[in-house]
Amino acid sequence: MDESTIIRKQIELFEKKGINRRKFFKIMAAAGLFSLIDTQHAKAFSSKAKGKIVIVGGGAAGISMAARLKRWLDEPNITLIDPSDRQFYQPGFTLIASGVYKPEDVWKKQEDCMPSGINWVKDAVIAVDPVWNQVTTAKNGKIPYDFLVLAPGIQLNWDKVEGFSYDQLGVGNAHCIYDFQGAQKTWKALQEFTAKGGRGIYTDTYTKHKCGGAPKKICLLTEHYARKHNQRDHIQLDYFTAEKALYDVPYFTPRLIEIYKERNIPIQTNTRVKGIDTAAKQVHFERIETIDGEKKVTPFVEDYDFLHFLPPMSAPDFVKEAGLGFPDGNLAADGWAMVDKETLVHQKYPNIIAVGDVAGTPTSKTSAATRVQVPIAAKNLIALMEGKEPTEKYNGYAACPIVTDYGHVLLCEFDYDKNPQISFPFSMLDMSKEQWAAWLLKVYVLKPLYFYGMLKGYA
Ligand SMILES: Cc1cc2nc3c(=O)[nH]c(=O)nc-3n(C[C@H](O)[C@H](O)[C@H](O)COP(=O)(O)OP(=O)(O)OC[C@H]3O[C@@H](n4cnc5c(N)ncnc54)[C@H](O)[C@@H]3O)c2cc1C
Repeated sequence: MDESTIIRKQIELFEKKGINRRKFFKIMAAAGLFSLIDTQHAKAFSSKAKGKIVIVGGGAAGISMAARLKRWLDEPNITLIDPSDRQFYQPGFTLIASGVYKPEDVWKKQEDCMPSGINWVKDAVIAVDPVWNQVTTAKNGKIPYDFLVLAPGIQLNWDKVEGFSYDQLGVGNAHCIYDFQGAQKTWKALQEFTAKGGRGIYTDTYTKHKCGGAPKKICLLTEHYARKHNQRDHIQLDYFTAEKALYDVPYFTPRLIEIYKERNIPIQTNTRVKGIDTAAKQVHFERIETIDGEKKVTPFVEDYDFLHFLPPMSAPDFVKEAGLGFPDGNLAADGWAMVDKETLVHQKYPNIIAVGDVAGTPTSKTSAATRVQVPIAAKNLIALMEGKEPTEKYNGYAACPIVTDYGHVLLCEFDYDKNPQISFPFSMLDMSKEQWAAWLLKVYVLKPLYFYGMLKGYA
């Protein structure tokens, strides 16, 4: 689809929803401005550097890196390894689970997203040997590299929830939107739950996880859905977080907590899911507190009629097994790649760079963060190929559009220091509050920006 067709389709969608063209173009301008600036930037740079680049993973980070490197290198030699047939726009899973998007809205064939001239090996990497500079694949044996881009995303560890396994997703009304099928099951169950009434429990997990906002969004969307259908009095909603607070970005947190209060959704902190009994519809929790310097663990059980939970997450096993994770510190346990948080270059192996969710950067794991990391990582990789020092620096930018109801989004954008980083020109609005304009951005702009801007190496 060419750009004019995409824009025409977006306008038609807006008009169907009663939104006029002027407003549409305001929003498009807001989003488009940045990709345009980057287009100029993208074209201005090129390098004669040579070397075989292997990219592991072809999601948000891997495909965008391939597109950038392909454009910036005069003689690119790029192999991308990814077993998936499909490219998913995962931020759309929340909108499938709330009935805003249809499942077919969020994916494209991987072959249509792959930049031309890239050698795509449709396989999974099972090991990396960073000393001998080669990766091992499941079906195609060993593949050597001069430079490695690690972009395999995150691993969902379903079996770390006692009594649960992936094939049980949806059984006993236990749901998770972090999976494409799971998001579809959630939408059906959410409608049935709000129609029937009962108690809904919403949880997150104790590990770092992608899009920390997603479990909060689906909770708030359930609440609003019930209200819209005059069923609010028939459901009780509770949010349990493993963290010591609902959110930890000071500019946005007060309003988010206020919204939960206004909607009458109690929040319990320091509570993590230990297991789920889908037959009894019970969640087994642990409250973990430090009292007088001593760790105290209190188990308790809660009954539910509808459950939304997150499995613990980590870097894929092969990353940790290859010794590419941190040896100690709070990023060590889950194997996140040991990169310099500014240059994204591996701290032990300087011919490896990690981008996206797998990177051990102390910020939120979002595709918005990935979008900002990619041009920095690509420039730094080229510097290394040229035998120079990597000088581009990532400031920890991440964004999480927290959908607070059908029509509003609290657009949380921040850096490593948790300072707000409002990048879209919404400065005339108070972005510490939920905004309708941010909803338009989330529902109508960010998806085309992903498929036609970011994955093409322009945004
Ligand atoms: C429910 C949900 C809501 C979200 N909401 C938002 C949001 O609102 N805003 C936002 O910015 N972000 C959001 N995100 C997060 C965002 O989708 C991720 O941060 C982003 O996709 C990370 O990009 P990535 O390339 O690192 O990983 P992915 O995009 O997950 O790509 C990883 C790729 O690696 C491949 N791979 C995996 N293992 C191997 C292997 N062994 N060998 C080879 N290839 C492999 C996979 O097939 C996949 O193609 C959300 C995510 C979810 C699940």
